[in-house]
Amino acid sequence: MKLLSKLFISLYIMILGLSSCNSVKQPATAKADDFNYFVEQFDDIRVLKYKLPGFEALTLRQKEYVYYLSQATLTGRDILWDQNFRYNIQIKKTIEAILDSYSGNKESDEFKAFLLYAKKVFFANGIHHHYSSDKFKPGFSESYFATLIKSCGNEKLPLAKGQTPDQLIALLTPVIFNEKLFPRKVEQRAETDMVAESASNFYEGVTQKEVEEYYTGKTVGNDPRPLSLGLNSKVVKINGKVTEEVYRSGGKYGSVIDNIIPWLEKAISVAETDAQKNELGLLIEYYKTGDLKKWDEYNVAWAKNSDPMVDYINGFIENYEDPLGMKATWEGIVDYTDMEATKRTKIITSNAQWFEDNSPIQPKYRKEKVTGVAAKVVNIAMLGGDCYPASPLGINLPNADWIRKEVGSKSVTLANITNAYDIASQGNGFLEEFAADQTEVDRIKKYGIISDALHTDLHECVGHASGKLAEGTDPNTLKNYASALEEARADLFALYYMMDKKIVELGLLPNEDAGKASYDAYLRNGLLTQVVRIKPGKDIEEAHMRNRAAISHWVYEKGKADNVVEFIKRDGKTYVKINDYNKLRTLFGELLKEIQRIKSEGDFEAGKKIIENYGVKIDPKLHTEILERYARLNLAPYTGFVNPVLKPLYDSNGSITDVTVEYTDDYLGQMMYYGKNYSYLTIDN
Ligand SMILES: [Zn+2]
Repeated sequence: MKLLSKLFISLYIMILGLSSCNSVKQPATAKADDFNYFVEQFDDIRVLKYKLPGFEALTLRQKEYVYYLSQATLTGRDILWDQNFRYNIQIKKTIEAILDSYSGNKESDEFKAFLLYAKKVFFANGIHHHYSSDKFKPGFSESYFATLIKSCGNEKLPLAKGQTPDQLIALLTPVIFNEKLFPRKVEQRAETDMVAESASNFYEGVTQKEVEEYYTGKTVGNDPRPLSLGLNSKVVKINGKVTEEVYRSGGKYGSVIDNIIPWLEKAISVAETDAQKNELGLLIEYYKTGDLKKWDEYNVAWAKNSDPMVDYINGFIENYEDPLGMKATWEGIVDYTDMEATKRTKIITSNAQWFEDNSPIQPKYRKEKVTGVAAKVVNIAMLGGDCYPASPLGINLPNADWIRKEVGSKSVTLANITNAYDIASQGNGFLEEFAADQTEVDRIKKYGIISDALHTDLHECVGHASGKLAEGTDPNTLKNYASALEEARADLFALYYMMDKKIVELGLLPNEDAGKASYDAYLRNGLLTQVVRIKPGKDIEEAHMRNRAAISHWVYEKGKADNVVEFIKRDGKTYVKINDYNKLRTLFGELLKEIQRIKSEGDFEAGKKIIENYGVKIDPKLHTEILERYARLNLAPYTGFVNPVLKPLYDSNGSITDVTVEYTDDYLGQMMYYGKNYSYLTIDN
């Protein structure tokens, strides 16, 4: 599963957050540095680049390992394009040919519209929007498209055998321009034939019913370790018979897979442990055979290898793009452990008992023996396939339930990707628009990243792990309020300690001001800005948002007599100002105590009251104001990344002596480079 920056409803996926439990994140809470994260913005897309902190400190062997795996990550690119839609490869190659050779007027409105279309298609890995799944509407005419194609030499065009440029134009024009043809990549409305109505390329010439019957026939009943049936194949009909084309060497996508395997073999040659070698060997066997049993063996080995310095994902993993939820898109990443963050989580977990013993809850609900949960934080070194350019913020794999139960899973948050989001958002005006004053702005710029990261770590590593139930309490009594209350408990645990001097003593924050920055950000989000994601007139539904609203409104109301937190108005705009940080901390502690009691005793009515009274309703006047202010900022709702360029340096014997990192600001250039160097599917229809 991926933790995404967008609202993808899944058990593990939250919205635009630092972590699995941090769903709506304040868009601006980071510390600036002189690295320029911003690359470009077009349509509803913002493109950034990410930095590789600490990469130079890896050993040469680790760097080589990263390099080979990163090549394997880039090599699979064409598979995803073809999976998204069967004409995507030919369209991509046509766009590349035009961009490569068109020498006419590039300042015309039509060419600019074509360029915009090209950028959008590259971003989506195809002609359907990566998130909404709708087909893009070109802003140029059919005849202009024909002119562009004709301006390319025949040898540049991706012509099928015997195909003329006119035939290419006749084929692609309706595919691109006719709004009725292939309108959606993934159609999941229950009343439709989702297989027939989806443009994605997992099925051809078959109905949903035929596919379902085909797999029902293959399912083994009561298998405690069921295979991920249908994960790596396309279902087609040959001579009236439904069958599978398996993704493997010599099979579907064999030409790409055969180019991935040599990079994995090179990775084995520099792998640090036998466990890694064994695991990669299994992956190669799986790629060669397409055998799903091998895939499970591989995943077991990968999941057991829980703490490597360098790790990766490479394969057919997530099934979000298949309307039937079986077939997986190809993706790849390479990552390495973030040593700074790991140091931080180790300090927290080794002090878990101290946090528990000093928590402001009733002593009888404290755990006598608490073990913190170690969360792994990594930096991305390369994104590929379905993780590029739109990247997840966290990943939890493998997906097979029985492996998760028997062996466990690996859960990581992607630090450098998250940091890029945060820092790039600083210049976007969001913080300046909603912060109460310059002190707040400065404080966030100085301490935002570290205080945000620490809040997440406290929430994840000790917050959820703390506290215990009273004897005999049924853990299911809080029902529909359980997750909002549980998130509130973990958030309050973190908030309470953010301003504790122990945190500074442990070296987790530089000073009290950093704690203040996190209070500012939390209340600004909970009382004001998080509602930008909610349509006018609607209530807050999502558990994390309810939690944040509930905490913020509760402390506001309880502190009202002492003016702890106040709403101020300036030029018709509303701001939130904290007047007494210490009293606010006490209030967080009081609410933590109450919510722990509710959980420990299973007090449904009290829990319901807190959520319903403080966490659900939005003041309609304020909501309108926030939405208007937000709209004026013109922020792009979707973000993606260009990759760094990893370059091996060789000695005279051809051995790698180092791997260097270069960063690029050229989004289109990277797409064209990948098209030239990592394209292994040919046009054969
Ligand atoms: Zn949580």
